[in-house]
Amino acid sequence: MTVFNLGSINADLFYRVPHLLAPGETLASTKHSRGLGGKGANMSVAIARAAARAVHIGAVGSDGRWAVERLLEYGVDTRSIVELDTVTGHAVIMVDDQGENAILIHPGANRALTETHIASALGAASEEDFFLFQNETSGQVEGATLASARGMRVVYAAAPFDAKAVEAVLPMLDILVVNAVEAQQLTDELGVALADLPVRDVIVTLGGDGCRWINTDEGTEQTFPAIPVTAVDTTGAGDTFTGFLVAALDRGLPMEQAISLGQQAGAIMVTRHGTADVIPDLKDIQDARL
Ligand code: ATP
Repeated sequence: MTVFNLGSINADLFYRVPHLLAPGETLASTKHSRGLGGKGANMSVAIARAAARAVHIGAVGSDGRWAVERLLEYGVDTRSIVELDTVTGHAVIMVDDQGENAILIHPGANRALTETHIASALGAASEEDFFLFQNETSGQVEGATLASARGMRVVYAAAPFDAKAVEAVLPMLDILVVNAVEAQQLTDELGVALADLPVRDVIVTLGGDGCRWINTDEGTEQTFPAIPVTAVDTTGAGDTFTGFLVAALDRGLPMEQAISLGQQAGAIMVTRHGTADVIPDLKDIQDARL
């Protein structure tokens, strides 16, 4: 079984600065590094690290070949990533000496994905497979429609939150994953309680408070406390949680166990600095004995 993940691939460009830029100011950065990022890429890495097969459906420009190679090194199937005549998506992340940040994102190739490409990538998919997507690419509605028509299990991590985007894909979803802020936005902006959504399973991640699982079929709701750890950097915790959750479900585990693995991976993730490059694997989870 396979998880087909329609998702963003970004170059995360980090710049250390003495202070955040003021309008009109020119400032020299004191340190620079480049990492693999984008919610989609993070999730694909997490899926592969959770020992499931991840096929990434995405796009880069010719400046993004290194990112595709990095995904491949992490065990992601990159054959459905196209190289387009545009720039690779990137995030310019400025961090000042106080740890404050300012982030500029340019979606680039992520938003140039076409339905034709997504359809061809899903050509080999079966109803045993999962389709996962987020909000940082184009083609979400098309992808979810195609996947649902193929009988795949459709999982949506509704981030960055966009009420219209959520509304457009709701009928196709089997599982919706949102964080606490997104859950609030969803209920406020769509005027519907999570338990009344036409989606069988709704998972709300609650950071250091764990997560909540609403099974709308059964009318049940369960809260799972987080694993106590000392958090140093929460970046990518949600993506890691979702990747492990979907990978576990794809491997045939029940929801409770998938949530438990997601929470263990999320807990380890917050103890590490960085994103895609530091996502734990199953061995890290075993060794951590959380
Ligand atoms: P981000 O946007 O930072 O990637 P998110 O807001 O999407 O994260 P969170 O709800 O912060 O997602 O975290 C996802 C999961 O990671 C949580 O459900 C929990 O299992 C784990 N987690 C996050 N923060 C902590 C923490 N401080 N301690 C233990 N586990 C945590």
